[in-house]
Amino acid sequence: MTPFWDMLNRIEQSDVMALLENTSAEKVRPLIGRPRLSEADLALLLSKGATPLLEEMAQQARRITQARFGNAVSLYAPLYVSNKCSGTCPYCGFKKTQKIKRRTLSIDEVEAEGEVLSRSGIQHVLLVTGDCPGKGVEFLCEAARRLKKRFPSVTVEIPPLDEADYRALTECGVDGVTLYQETYDKALYDELHRGSPKDNYMYRLDALSRAGAAGMRKLNLGVLWGLSDWRYDAFRLALHARFLEKNHWRSQILLGMPRLHNVPGDFTIPCKVSDRDFVHIIVTMRLFLHDAGIVVSTREKPGFRDNLLAIGATQFSAGSKTEPGGYSAAERQSGAQFEIDDQRSPKAVEADLARLGYDPVFKDWDRGFIS
Ligand code: SF4
Repeated sequence: MTPFWDMLNRIEQSDVMALLENTSAEKVRPLIGRPRLSEADLALLLSKGATPLLEEMAQQARRITQARFGNAVSLYAPLYVSNKCSGTCPYCGFKKTQKIKRRTLSIDEVEAEGEVLSRSGIQHVLLVTGDCPGKGVEFLCEAARRLKKRFPSVTVEIPPLDEADYRALTECGVDGVTLYQETYDKALYDELHRGSPKDNYMYRLDALSRAGAAGMRKLNLGVLWGLSDWRYDAFRLALHARFLEKNHWRSQILLGMPRLHNVPGDFTIPCKVSDRDFVHIIVTMRLFLHDAGIVVSTREKPGFRDNLLAIGATQFSAGSKTEPGGYSAAERQSGAQFEIDDQRSPKAVEADLARLGYDPVFKDWDRGFIS
């Protein structure tokens, strides 16, 4: 068992469900300005009874975000190494049964992609690979070494690793790990990933603790909104973030907010999350976790995404391509993981954010800060 799972199991599920089903706004209102919230408070803020108070919650979330982050918005972009995957995750455009053109970049091609990306102004690159045979830690180390010449910050979104492998990556210059649990509902997770390389829920659940122990400076966790009941997943995600904050205080904790929109045609999103519910999740995360970065990707539409900055978002991807080789090629030559809804270039995002009064930040981290 992982320490976080043990902690989660000490909380009585029926008690949490009762709080999430609360329909009384009066129980929620006194919590909105409270500086430190308990687990029970968190459940009440996520409850149905909190819905009429969303505007008040958003105003408080805005005050906290301003106090902690000012107007700064960090920008980054993903760099996909491969779309070959032995995984069978039904919601993913890279699953092995998906009929797409497959491609895996060589080290030189990764470097070439990095060169094009860096010319767009991006200084934080997120290396992404699915469960791709032959692209293990040594390859990622070499890719990181090459990319560090151009990018002050290199982070990875890759399958979970042992602590020693995370340590090897930090030694090559990788400073952060993004790893989404997809859903904290273990029965659903097992059902969705049966027979897939991703079928070990516990190993995944503990991965960010291993990454933190290995010295990763940024730990980005999340769920795929739309897979399961959002209230209960948000409750467990927030507790996981607080657990990591407490146990890995040297690392910055970030919450990724990937919401399912564009999925393979043979998959139906089981629990679609509306815009209002998505806002409810973000403001609650901000009220519960004052210092966590909140990352909103190009899965969201431009205007909606920009509005989320006012209530808690602090980091955007920009100009993203979700297929390997996407930055260098004039036209798409391989399959993408998902279609993006915000097509703006990094420069266009920068200009829009400046017009709205925010400070777009391309460089928010450099290893030199700590050495
Ligand atoms: S989610 Fe990851 S492991 Fe699953 S099919 Fe997609 S790339 Fe592969």
